[in-house]
Amino acid sequence: MDYNYHTHTVRCNHATGTDEEYIQRAIACGITDMGFSDHFPLSFSDGHESGYRVPVSQVSEYVASISALRDKYKNQIDLHIGFEMEYYPSRFDEMIAAARKYGAEYLLLGQHFIGEEWPNGFYVTLGSDSTDQLKEYTDCVVAGIESGLFTYVAHPDLFRYTGNDHDFYHEQAVRICRASIAHNVPLEINLLGLRAGRFYPQNAFWSIAGKTGCPVTFGFDSHAPEDAFDEASIPVAEELVRKFDLNYIGKPELILLK
Ligand SMILES: [Zn+2]
Ligand SMILES: [Zn+2]
Repeated sequence: MDYNYHTHTVRCNHATGTDEEYIQRAIACGITDMGFSDHFPLSFSDGHESGYRVPVSQVSEYVASISALRDKYKNQIDLHIGFEMEYYPSRFDEMIAAARKYGAEYLLLGQHFIGEEWPNGFYVTLGSDSTDQLKEYTDCVVAGIESGLFTYVAHPDLFRYTGNDHDFYHEQAVRICRASIAHNVPLEINLLGLRAGRFYPQNAFWSIAGKTGCPVTFGFDSHAPEDAFDEASIPVAEELVRKFDLNYIGKPELILLK
C-alpha cells in the first residue's frame, strides 16, 4: 500500500504528534501519495464548536502547515490538503463554500452524526435499533456521494445498527453501495477500526458490498504518527477483500475541489 488519504492532526484534539512526524513515517514506509483529512471545522448557531474538529481559529494554520511541508517534501511524497466532513443537509452548501475558501483540495465523507450533530444530533457509533435513524444516516451518505464532491466514503459502515430488521439493514447498505457504483465513489475499509478492534469494519456491510461490486479502497485513518503507516492492519484488510470478494481498486482517484 503506497497511498493514504485519511490522516488527522493534533488540532482535532484526539490525535497526537506533529504534522511532520506523520509525513516522515509515511515516507519511510513507502507511501507516495498522502492526504491530510482532518475533521472539518464547524461552529453552530449558538456559538458551540465541536471538540473533535479542527477549531475554526486554527484552520488557516492547518492549511499553511501542510502546504509548507508539501513544498519541503515535494521530491519524496505527493501531499494533499483536505478535510473529512459530514453531509448535513441544511448546512452542506455553506460547508463546501468554507472548504473551498480554506483551500481544501479534496474531501472525504465521514458521517459521524445524524441530526446535524448539535444540539440534538446522534453519534452513530453509539448503537441504535431505530430504522428511522439508520435511514437518515443512509440518506446523508447517499446524498454526499451524489454531490460528486467527495473522493471517497470513510467507514461507510459507521452506523451501529442493533435492531433485528435485517432486511432493512440490507436495503440501506445496498443503497450506499449502489450510489457508490453509480457515481464511482469508493467505500473505505477503515484500518483504524481494525487496529483498534472496533465494531467496524462490519462483516454484515462488507458482505453486501462484495455482492454489489462497488469500488473499495483502504484508509489508515491515522491519529498518531506511527499509524501514518499501519503495516499490521493491511493483511487484515486484504483478508476482508478476499473473504467478501470485494472490488478493491487500490489508490482512489482524487476528486479535486475546484
Ligand atoms: Zn478522528
Ligand atoms: Zn477520520
